[in-house]
Amino acid sequence: MVETIYNATVIGKILLTPDLMILRLKTDTPRNEFKAGQYTTIGLLAKEARSTNSSVPIEEFEPDFLIKRPYSIASAKNDIRDFEFYISQVKSGQLTPRLFNLSQGDRMWIDDKILGIFSLNDTPKNNNIVMIATGTGLAPYISFLRSHIAEHPEIKMAVIHGAAYPWDLGYYSELSFIQNVFKNFFYFPTLLKADNNWTGLRGYIEEHLKNGILEDVGIEVNPEKTHFFLCGNPKMVDSVTDFLALNNYTKHQSMCPGALHIEEY
Ligand SMILES: Cc1cc2nc3c(=O)[nH]c(=O)nc-3n(C[C@H](O)[C@H](O)[C@H](O)COP(=O)(O)OP(=O)(O)OC[C@H]3O[C@@H](n4cnc5c(N)ncnc54)[C@H](O)[C@@H]3O)c2cc1C
Repeated sequence: MVETIYNATVIGKILLTPDLMILRLKTDTPRNEFKAGQYTTIGLLAKEARSTNSSVPIEEFEPDFLIKRPYSIASAKNDIRDFEFYISQVKSGQLTPRLFNLSQGDRMWIDDKILGIFSLNDTPKNNNIVMIATGTGLAPYISFLRSHIAEHPEIKMAVIHGAAYPWDLGYYSELSFIQNVFKNFFYFPTLLKADNNWTGLRGYIEEHLKNGILEDVGIEVNPEKTHFFLCGNPKMVDSVTDFLALNNYTKHQSMCPGALHIEEY
C-alpha cells in the first residue's frame, strides 16, 4: 500500500487536554449527505509516528498497513467535505496515538462510507429528545444539534454529559450558547472529580435521572413522549438502560422500533 491512499487533509486540531481533541478534516472529494449521528472510518498508515505521551506497545504491522477505526461525526449533516471528530487518546491504542501526533496540513485516510442507525430519523416529530453521553460519546449529539436544533422549536431537547473534570467537558461553550439561544434546549454537565470551583452538577447520570432532573424542566420519562439516546461508557449505558426499562423503554432496532437508542463504542 502506498501513501497515495490518503484522501483528506487535517484542517484543524484543538487539543482540549493532552488526551482529548477535536479533529477537523477536509476530504479531497465530497461525501454523500449523511444523517446526523452517523459514523465513518478514518485511518493512518502504521509507519506514522505515535504521540510522545503515548505508551509504546509491541506492534507487528508492516509500515504500509492502514490502521483504521470508526468515529462518530460531530459536524452537521450537510457538511460533506469538512468533517469534525471528538476523539480521546487510548495511550496503548494503535490508531489514537497516531491521530494525536497529527498537525494541521497533514494527510490521512477517511472512508467513503458513512454508516449507522443512531439518528433522529426514526424519532416521531412531536417527541422530546434526551441525549446522554459520557466522554467523547457526546460527538453524535453535536451533529444532531448542529443539524436539527432550529427545526424543532415545539419539542424539548436535553443533553446530559458526564465527565471527570471541567476540562473534560468538550463543547461546553457551544452547548451553553445553544441553551442560552434556544429556550427548549437544556444542558446538564455533571462531574465526578471537580474541585470546589465547580458550581454545577456532580455525580452519576443515573442518580440525576432518578432524582427527576428531566421532570424539573418538563420532560416526561415516558416512551410515548420522549426518546432517549445513550452513547459512551458501557457502565453508564447499562445503568441508564436499566432505569429506562423500569419506565417501559425498549431498545430501538431496525426491525423492532423502540424509544431507547444506543450507540456502543
Ligand atoms: C460506531 C463507533 C463510533 C465511535 N466513535 C468514537 C468517537 O467519536 N470518539 C472516540 O474517541 N472513539 C470512538 N469510537 C472508538 C474508536 O473506534 C476506537 O476504538 C478508539 O479510538 C481506540 O482506538 P485505538 O486504535 O487507539 O485503540 P485500540 O488499539 O483499538 O485499542 C487498544 C485497547 O484499548 C481499549 N480501548 C478502546 N477504546 C478505549 C477507550 N475509549 N478508553 C479506554 N480503553 C479503550 C480496547 O479495548 C483495547 O484493549 C467509536 C467506536 C465505534 C464502534
